[in-house]
Amino acid sequence: KMKDMAIRDALTGIYNRGHLNTQVDKFSKRAFQMNSSLTVALIDIDRFKEINDTYGHLFGDEVIKKIAFYADSIATKYDGIAARYGGEEFVMVFPDCSVDECSLFVEEMRELVNDMLLECDGQIVKTRVSVGIASYPETCDRVQELLNRADEAMYYSKKSGRNRVTIDTKEIHEYVNQQIETANVIA
Ligand code: GH3
Ligand code: MG
Ligand code: MG
Repeated sequence: KMKDMAIRDALTGIYNRGHLNTQVDKFSKRAFQMNSSLTVALIDIDRFKEINDTYGHLFGDEVIKKIAFYADSIATKYDGIAARYGGEEFVMVFPDCSVDECSLFVEEMRELVNDMLLECDGQIVKTRVSVGIASYPETCDRVQELLNRADEAMYYSKKSGRNRVTIDTKEIHEYVNQQIETANVIA
């Protein structure tokens, strides 16, 4: 029980970031050695600060729990794993899975979130998510960079209007890094 607690996130009960990293390392080695694929999706709740500010932190926690449950259910259904990666960010990892397959799984999850009806003080609260997908070797030839590239694609989803799924490409990678460089110059 203690061992299980160490790899799980206290709020949601799904895997925590530490365990995710360990598993991604394992999957990465296998993908590299066996010449197989590894696909990751990074999910971030849209305008979550607003949800907290409007309905309170406790309600925000309920939203996180529900979305964690969906991420975990979808990942498990398709032989992957899900983890809470940060506050309102989740990662799903699918070994031996193409970008197209992963897109379908993620779309299923995004729809579950869309259809989710949570109520607070008699009001229906809508929640949306933005997602980025990266896959070895299809979009990214270095397994070590998968999570970073999924994060960049997720950032692109935010930039292009949120509530969407973006697949990593070389162009998006260059675009996002250009944005970061510009931001650094301004700062
Ligand atoms: P964006 O659409 O760009 O992602 O906007 P956002 O508001 O979701 O992004 P931002 O990163 O500004 O806000 C994330 C918020 O998530 C801020 C933080 O207070 C909240 N948060 C992080 N962890 C938790 C948690 O465990 N519970 C609750 N209720 N809120 C959390
Ligand atoms: Mg975030
Ligand atoms: Mg967010």
